[in-house]
Amino acid sequence: MLQVSEREIDELLKNAQLRATRHRHEVLKIILENPNTPMSIDELVEHLPEGFDRVTAYRIVNSFAEKGLLEKINHLSNTLKVILSPSLRKKHMHLVTCRLCGSTYTANICVQPGWREKLARLGFSNVSHNLSFTGVCGNH
Ligand SMILES: [Zn+2]
Ligand SMILES: [Zn+2]
Repeated sequence: MLQVSEREIDELLKNAQLRATRHRHEVLKIILENPNTPMSIDELVEHLPEGFDRVTAYRIVNSFAEKGLLEKINHLSNTLKVILSPSLRKKHMHLVTCRLCGSTYTANICVQPGWREKLARLGFSNVSHNLSFTGVCGNH
């Protein structure tokens, strides 16, 4: 688990133009502390202090997704999971999802180096990429 400073959390909320309420602060903290673990609303609530209900967590997660603080992963199992937004992750990585059970893992895999330069040659700046992998996980 990553250590995240209170200041860093408030700064991110401020940049996202969200008022730093205690609830938002707590949710963002959990997400930042677990940057590589996709979490369902239930898992989030488990990590949160007492008295936090699913509805509040769900509402906060939605506002965070709108502001680009986190990424929503829609599982085949229909369980919504969230993970820290790729642009906020310190380590660049992509996700792999199991087609049978919907488990999602982060994987240290990317496209070959040089893609930025290749796209620059086509006249593109400010480029980004998305990659998603699916497969059958080791639990089957
Ligand atoms: Zn699986
Ligand atoms: Zn990549």
